[in-house]
Formats: sequence, C-alpha cells, structure tokens
Amino acid sequence: MEHKNSSGNTITFLGTAGARFVVTKQFLASGGLWLSLDGVEILVDPGPGCIVQSTKRKLRAEKLNAIILSHRHLDHAADTNIMVEAMTQGGFKPNGWLFAPSDALETEPVIFSYLRNFLNGIEVLQEGKSYQIGNISFTTPIKHIHPVETYGMIFTTSEHTFSYIADTRYFDDLCQNYKGELLIINVVFLEPRPTIDHLSLPDARHIITELKPKVAILTHFGMTMWRSKPWEIAQRLSEETGVRVLAARDGMKFDLSQLDNS
Ligand SMILES: [Zn+2]
Repeated sequence: MEHKNSSGNTITFLGTAGARFVVTKQFLASGGLWLSLDGVEILVDPGPGCIVQSTKRKLRAEKLNAIILSHRHLDHAADTNIMVEAMTQGGFKPNGWLFAPSDALETEPVIFSYLRNFLNGIEVLQEGKSYQIGNISFTTPIKHIHPVETYGMIFTTSEHTFSYIADTRYFDDLCQNYKGELLIINVVFLEPRPTIDHLSLPDARHIITELKPKVAILTHFGMTMWRSKPWEIAQRLSEETGVRVLAARDGMKFDLSQLDNS
C-alpha cells in the first residue's frame, strides 16, 4: 500500500454515544470526530468529554484549524468552549475558526463572548453553502429535520470525499444529498420512533442502499442500538446492502486510504 501523503488522512472517533442516557451515563464516550486531512486538523461536534478524549489520545488541540458544530445540542457542542480555549492556547495564540448554525451563536450562544476574540473568526453554516479550511473544503448540502438548526457535511480532500449525516429525522432528500466514498451516519434507534427526530436502523439501511458508498460507518448510538451490539448490526447490514458497513468504536481511527482498496 502506498501512502501518498505523509500526514495521512484519518478520522478518529472520540465518542460513539448518542441520545441522553448513553451520554449522561457515559456508557460510551461523546467527544465527536477528529479529522486529520491533508495536514488540516478539524474537530466536529465536540460533545461532553471531548477535552478528555482528545488529550488522552494525544490529539493536540493547538494544532486544530477549525471546530465545526452540526448543531447546538449538548451531545454535539458541550465542550466547544474548552476546545476553543485549548485550540487558542488559553487565548494567548489566536487561532482557528468556528463553524456553527446561526441558532448556536445568537440567543444563548454555545460559545462564551470572551472566547470569540481568540478565534480567527466564526462562520455561520447555511444550507447549500461550501466552506474552505486550508486545502479542505466542505459543504452543508441540506438543512436537517431536528429540533434545532442542524446540518450534515460533505468533506473533500485531495483524494477523497466523505459525508457525515448528523442528527435528523428521515427524509428522502438525505438519499440524494450525501454522496461520497464514505458515509458516517448517526443512528440512534434500533426501531423507528416516529415522534423523535432521529434516524433508526431501518432508515440507515435505506439511506446506505440508496447512496451506495464504498464504506459506511454507524455511530451515535442510543441505548437500543448499543444493547443490540452495533458491530453485529453492522455485519448484518453489510450482508443486506452489499456495502461494507462498520460500527464505530470509541477511539477508532479510520484511515481514508482504506477506501482505495475497497
Ligand atoms: Zn441533536
């Protein structure tokens, strides 16, 4: 196997917990995703414990170029302030960008006002826009159906494209808007729960079948998913869909070069 880029392209799962009890009991960690892409470091959805999970894994916040929030819910944004503080070395070295939906920044903002000045800037996420962080670009193709303003993302590196479907209720446009070689998908429920705006396993199966990525990674597990052993679910989904489906584990590092031989 050839490694074209010495810095590598990896996604580290700083947590796989979704929904309240798995997060509040910390049955699973909830630190978000740490992306190392073509030398650019990006933190997505720093939930509770992100500072603990990232330092434990020797991921250096002062190297971060950006923090992106899919939405303002606690399990995605609780550690935003401390991670901004770490990214900017306590404010002594202004650094990095924060990307977030407008409702995360306006009334009851997720970031303290004194920390805003430590950033290079804040960008508001909007439907259908694209954004640049060094050599990496990402788009927020569509607004999700969730109680607060929420976006998923499609990231493009020099060699790969991958999508992240953050919290949402199922709607058909998800199946058109998140094409990529890799799909990371937040699957909270084992069975559909129509009154709650989260994806269930049957939703994920349908979305994966429609999008046909090379690899799909399930994460953000609620209690029903966790009790049913996500790795066994992933194995069954692989057989049913013909797509290689993995269940994320806390601390799992996925190297994008795995997509080259899929
Ligand atoms: Zn949410």
